[in-house]
Amino acid sequence: MIDTAANEDRPSLVQVRSLSKSYRTAHGAVELFRDLSLEVPAGELLAIVGESGAGKSTLLHLLAALDAPTAGHVTVDGIDVTALKSAGQAAFRNRTVGYVWQFHYLLPEFTALENIAMPLLAQGMARAEALRRAARWLDEVSLAGRARHRSGELSGGEQQRVSLARALVTEPRLLLADEPTGDLDSRTAETIFALLQRLHAAHGLTSVMVTHHLGLAGRCGRTLVLREGRLLPLAGGDSPQ
Ligand code: ADP
Repeated sequence: MIDTAANEDRPSLVQVRSLSKSYRTAHGAVELFRDLSLEVPAGELLAIVGESGAGKSTLLHLLAALDAPTAGHVTVDGIDVTALKSAGQAAFRNRTVGYVWQFHYLLPEFTALENIAMPLLAQGMARAEALRRAARWLDEVSLAGRARHRSGELSGGEQQRVSLARALVTEPRLLLADEPTGDLDSRTAETIFALLQRLHAAHGLTSVMVTHHLGLAGRCGRTLVLREGRLLPLAGGDSPQ
C-alpha cells in the first residue's frame, strides 16, 4: 500500500484509503490509480503536481464527491464521502467543500455579488442575507467596487477572485483548487496565489491545490507528485510537466 501520511500530529481532515479509479473506454480500461492513500492534516495547504493526464483533476473530483471511485474510501471532516447518496453529495458539495477551477465558471448573466451569493441561495438562505454575506466576501477579495459588474466585465484575475469568494462564502472546511492560476499571466497568478494563501490562513482552511507551477507548489506546506498512480514526495529532479 502506498501511504502518504504527513508527519504531523494534527488530526486529518481528509483521509483517502485504498482508493482505486479506472475508466472504461472504447480501447479498454484506463487505470488511473490503485490502492492510493493520503492524509491531509487539518490546516494544511497541500500542493499536488504531476504530468498532464496523471489523474490530478480526477483525484480532486473524488475528494469533492463529483466522481465515484472504483474502490476505496474518501473521508472529509468525518464524512464518508464515498458512501453518500445524491442528496448527501449535494449537501456535502455545498457546505463542506469549496472549489475553484482553472476556468471561473461564473454565470455571465449575474453580477459578481450575485455569483458569490449563489451557493447561499442554493441552501435556501433569504436573498437579503445571502447578498449581505456575499458583499462581505467581495470586500475580503478586495473587489468591493465591482459588486454590480457581470463576469464579462471583469479581468481574468478579478474573475478568479470572485470564484474564490464564491467557493468560501458557505464557510467550508476544505478548499480544493484545480490549476487556479493556470489561465492567468504570471503576475496575476502570483496575486491570486497570495490571496489563496491569505484566505487559507485567515479562515483556518485545509486546502489542496493542483498546479503545474513548481514555484507556487514549493510555497505550499507540502508538495506531492502524482505519477503512475502513486502519490510521492517531490524529489529534486522533478519537472513541472
Ligand atoms: P490531470 O488532471 O492530471 O491532467 P485527469 O484527472 O484530468 O488528469 O485525467 C487523467 C486521465 O483520465 C485522462 O488522461 C483520461 O485518459 C482519463 N479520464 C478522465 N476522465 C475520464 C472519463 N470521464 N472517461 C474516460 N477516461 C477519463
